[in-house]
Amino acid sequence: MQIDFNTPTPIEYLCFNGVEFTLKRDDLINSELSGNKARKIDYYLYNLPKNITTVVSYGSIQSNAMFSISYFAKVNNLKFIYYANHIPSLLKENPRGNLELALKNGMILKEGYSRIEEPSNSIFIKEGIAEKSAYIGIEKLAKELIEQLNDKESYQIFLPSGTGTTSLFLSKAIKKLNVDNLEVYTTPCVGERGYLIEQFASLERNSIYYPTIIDSKKRYHFGKLYREFYQIWLELQKNTSVEFDLLYDPKGWITLFDNLDIFTNLVYIHQGGRIGNISMLERYRRKYGELNEDS
Ligand SMILES: *Cc1c(COP(=O)(O)O)cnc(C)c1O
Repeated sequence: MQIDFNTPTPIEYLCFNGVEFTLKRDDLINSELSGNKARKIDYYLYNLPKNITTVVSYGSIQSNAMFSISYFAKVNNLKFIYYANHIPSLLKENPRGNLELALKNGMILKEGYSRIEEPSNSIFIKEGIAEKSAYIGIEKLAKELIEQLNDKESYQIFLPSGTGTTSLFLSKAIKKLNVDNLEVYTTPCVGERGYLIEQFASLERNSIYYPTIIDSKKRYHFGKLYREFYQIWLELQKNTSVEFDLLYDPKGWITLFDNLDIFTNLVYIHQGGRIGNISMLERYRRKYGELNEDS
């Protein structure tokens, strides 16, 4: 069965703290499959071998990719086995957010990467869908942007990275299509610059295709809760009426404001992740209360 993508996703013209920007609403691709995970899964929608019965993947226990694959597996009547290295006992008893919904989609959860097995007739998808095949869907995103943006203007496209698959392939697709008014920038949210370059290198040898990596003044650790992350996420929502992701986008926006001289004509890619916000928001509220959410 096919999953309908509402593409091309719209672009919107917004302003946040004095910065005018274009927002690519890739979060609106599909109500279940969020943003870049939908783009990365695109390939499998059309290229799933007939004999496949099972999908195997691994990664963190609240991963957006995990939920997205669970939905893809459900729709295609596939068994989905997911390995997390560690499952906190609290979550086992009371799954929330991505985990809760992935389990509802029939995901079979197993603990320990050392136990990963690939049964016959299965496909194996790397953590975060950091697969070369993701290029197919991300190239479609590049083509939409080229179509939607004014070819007489220069733009700086920005998106925060986890595995770096989306920013790398977006940059590569734009360069391969010989479009020279669009330049891709990213920041590492998982690990540092060195980790991100390693990720790029595992997917693409030719560094001319790599996006430009920029960073925030302050260092942040992935998945940790920072008051300024929560604050900027709330401000974004108040100012733009758009719900951004709570895991990657706060670091993204802080990095943007630390590098404003670069962004004279910003295009921000909304990469989805709203389901993941359920559990992130619970954690933020527990730690910092409601802040000025209603003011
Ligand atoms: C997965 C995800 C990312 C990171 O994407 P990569 O392709 O792994 O770099 C960024 N933002 C959101 C909302 C995501 O769900």
